[in-house]
Amino acid sequence: MLRVALILSLVAAAVTASAQERPAKELFGSTALPADLPPEPIGFYSRGCMAGGVQLAPDGPHWQAMRLSRNRQWGLPTLIDFIHKLAKDAVEQDGWPGLLVGDLQQPRGGPMLTGHASHQSGLDADIWLTPMPDRRLTEREREDMSAIAVVEPGPHEVKRSVWTPAHGRLIRRAALDPRVERIFVAPGIKKELCATAGDDRSWLRKVRPYYGHNYHFHVRLSCPPGARCRKQSPPPPGDGCGEPLQWWYTAEPYKPAPPPDPDAPPPPEIMLSGLPAACRDVLTAPAPAGAMTMRQAFAASLGKPIPEAPARVAAELLAEGLLPARLPRPRPNGR
Ligand SMILES: [Zn+2]
Repeated sequence: MLRVALILSLVAAAVTASAQERPAKELFGSTALPADLPPEPIGFYSRGCMAGGVQLAPDGPHWQAMRLSRNRQWGLPTLIDFIHKLAKDAVEQDGWPGLLVGDLQQPRGGPMLTGHASHQSGLDADIWLTPMPDRRLTEREREDMSAIAVVEPGPHEVKRSVWTPAHGRLIRRAALDPRVERIFVAPGIKKELCATAGDDRSWLRKVRPYYGHNYHFHVRLSCPPGARCRKQSPPPPGDGCGEPLQWWYTAEPYKPAPPPDPDAPPPPEIMLSGLPAACRDVLTAPAPAGAMTMRQAFAASLGKPIPEAPARVAAELLAEGLLPARLPRPRPNGR
């Protein structure tokens, strides 16, 4: 009896050890449904995970979620509420026709197999700078439709044929929400906002120029007090329109990187053991009854047959004892 218990505990330890040694992106990148835990951001935006993630509905009165197959429109309840509010306010007060919502988090946050270094702890969201069409997009269109760049690639100026004052009002609206910690935009967008803000400038402090972000802007909410997340240092004081912006108009940020040292080891991957310990609980918690992937939720909303959740890697997790044996079956009228 003692021997059986010993063997079982050795097996459990081996399972834990093998999972800890796997890249966290493989584990988190293959979870199809959220963790049924009290909502909490854990760790940092670029090294963490999300307990109690909530789905952004594929459609709302003032938004549509894009790229449903990625299944990345999950966030903490405060982020989902932020998007609902921004969508409504932007339509009602800023003349913006509605939000096209890009990636938020995976169902349990964590590192991703492709894309983003951040978007891990439940507090990041990408919002397209393309106005929402006045009809409901099909699933195919949400996969194929391209966002429209609002900035010229070379000189970092907004494209006059694309940019409108409503683009600026949308970003301002997002920055005015007290939950927002930072917004990342292309330098040309920041320059345009600086030039057109007039006397109403305090919100500009949160809007930070960064590489990319020609097609969308990235909203980051603050780590709320009491949660097991790490705060980012606040943006420097001031509107960020002077010298910090000028730097983006020098050669410095665009210098080619030095060639990699052929003898240097590859940069280490984030393993599960490199995330806060609570992320293991996030990975192993059962999903809430009735939870559905983005594609499943979209099909259900149209009354269509519900597609299977991606199960290939989930089966691997199951074999390692990292997922509960019985995944809840999706219900059409689930939450
Ligand atoms: Zn982003």
